[in-house]
Amino acid sequence: MHKKQFKTESKKMLDMMINSVYTNKEIFLRELISNASDAIDKRYFRSLTDSSVGLAREDYCITITADKEARTITVADNGCGMTDKDLEQNLGTIAHSDSGEFKSDNNDDNISIIGQFGVGFYSAFMVSSRIVVTTRALDSQVAYRWESEGVDGYTITEADKEAIGTEIVMYLKEDAENETYSEFLDAYRIQELIKKYSDYIRYPIRMDVETSRPLEKAEGEEGTPQYETVVENRTLNSMVPIWHRKASDVSDEEYAEFYKAHFYDTQAPLRTIHTRMEGSVEYEMLLFVPQNAPYDYYSKDYVKGIQLYSDGVMIMEKCSDLLPDYFNFVRGVVDSSDLTLNISRETLQQNYQVKTIAKSIEKKIKSELLKMQKEDREKYEIFFKAFGAQLKYGVYSDYGIHKDVLQDLLVFRTTACDRYVTLKEYVDSMPESQKSIYYAFADTPELASQLPRTQAVVEKGFDVLLLSDDIDEFALGAINIYSDKTFKNVTSGDLDLSTDEEKDAVKKANEENAEMLTAMSDALEGKVKAVRFSNSLGEHPVSLSSEGYISAEMARILSKMPGNEMFANAEMALEINISHKLSETLKKLFAEDKEKLSLYAKILYAQARQISGLEIENPVELSNMICELMTE
Ligand code: ADP
Repeated sequence: MHKKQFKTESKKMLDMMINSVYTNKEIFLRELISNASDAIDKRYFRSLTDSSVGLAREDYCITITADKEARTITVADNGCGMTDKDLEQNLGTIAHSDSGEFKSDNNDDNISIIGQFGVGFYSAFMVSSRIVVTTRALDSQVAYRWESEGVDGYTITEADKEAIGTEIVMYLKEDAENETYSEFLDAYRIQELIKKYSDYIRYPIRMDVETSRPLEKAEGEEGTPQYETVVENRTLNSMVPIWHRKASDVSDEEYAEFYKAHFYDTQAPLRTIHTRMEGSVEYEMLLFVPQNAPYDYYSKDYVKGIQLYSDGVMIMEKCSDLLPDYFNFVRGVVDSSDLTLNISRETLQQNYQVKTIAKSIEKKIKSELLKMQKEDREKYEIFFKAFGAQLKYGVYSDYGIHKDVLQDLLVFRTTACDRYVTLKEYVDSMPESQKSIYYAFADTPELASQLPRTQAVVEKGFDVLLLSDDIDEFALGAINIYSDKTFKNVTSGDLDLSTDEEKDAVKKANEENAEMLTAMSDALEGKVKAVRFSNSLGEHPVSLSSEGYISAEMARILSKMPGNEMFANAEMALEINISHKLSETLKKLFAEDKEKLSLYAKILYAQARQISGLEIENPVELSNMICELMTE
């Protein structure tokens, strides 16, 4: 018989499954049951508009059979079934193969891929050496059998099957030294797995379970009781979705298992939000904040959304209208019996219920995040490291209209303490004399704290927010005023930290040395607006300060974006520390060696750029200039 080949990516995935060292092989059952449940959903949906294809509601079910002699475990459903084309498409290709590259053959990666994709059907190859799928689709007169022993390929042939639905027979692998597969033939083990992973599946999962029962004694009979073995057809799942249960009845572990299985994460959620909302629209929400961003979170492939259910029946996998972009990392389920089953994507946006739910979801997420921030700052830091950038984008986007929702969720590193602080905490601990909220920007918070101007502000007894995300300064720009305070970049020209006396002294020095400063500025050929003395550099000899709204760092970020070349150079001044020995050297050179003064100006400018995290415009020239001085 002609064997067909799996598509390349599917083959890689299969190969990984077959040779998997993944310890969690048991999830295969969950995956197959979840597929079976989806297939029944599909048939049920069809029956809403075409009563000829439906069954009585109570007849839909999933059946598990274990055969110890044949070493097989079978999962059967009376769902929508598959045609030969479906088999080809669905089981010949892995559903998610277009959503990412499988990076390496490294086992750790395999594990995370299994977690990320929720590999579905193929996971059965972790425990099986051969799989036979027999299926008959709705509307199809013919049944088909798909069969495969793994990477070699698969065959599809016609088969005998009366009832519509799918039956999947797994021939378990032989037990090896440290791998037992026969455990999956054990009825207790199967019951345990179904309780653990599939309890909430809305259709009954049935299995024949052997039990022994005492034989009834004849009247007057004595002696030890006799037992007979009987087969009981049991329903193994409670069929109550976890979100229908009372929050107080659900353990953290149950939430975690549900979350991981439902949303393909390998880690438990950082926070779980489970409430019943009453009011004009009644619904249950079960939301999760993940610990880590999913692998595709920062790519354009990531789709936000909440699973939408109408009284236990899923009507949409990812309802994006329920989540604002800035909370797009939240996963979860919303279930409302006020929603109609046949709501469409088009009517969704205008739907009153959906709008109401979306509003209260946003409020709830915010209040839960604030609670976490207050009660467990360590956890909140984990959250913020994963998703803080998204909140900052939220503050900046749409001309800042979401800033009131988001600004108190932001936390920052500062010079004063090694934990993150909120803007409110920063402002609350400001000394009376401090007028602005100071911040410094560099590639890392550590570098930002070492900037000359940062040190100068710290010396005045003020704390400085240390920024290092490209979006940071834009987000603060969008907030603009917080608690009546404006934000000030420590490199800004009008930092104004001095007393009147100090200001006068600087002013005088600048006037007296105007010619020298102009000569230095001329040497820099328009690269800076001015060269001047300053008393706000702490111990440091030189620094750049920005003159306009756009700081040097913002200019650097903006200039990287296409169409923004005009931002390539912010208006900057080169500042020389008035109390540094350097200022005397410069004055002396102005009197004795003007050529060398211009050489110094160029070197100092290059140094100041570097300190600000800007590129040196001409490193070769700089190197030559320094060597020239060294070899004098
Ligand atoms: P996923 O379920 O994530 O789409 P799977 O690899 O588990 O990926 O399944 C691929 C597809 O095969 C499913 O989307 C579905 O269309 C089909 N399928 C799997 N199991 C069944 C089943 N029991 N009945 C009908 N179709 C099924």
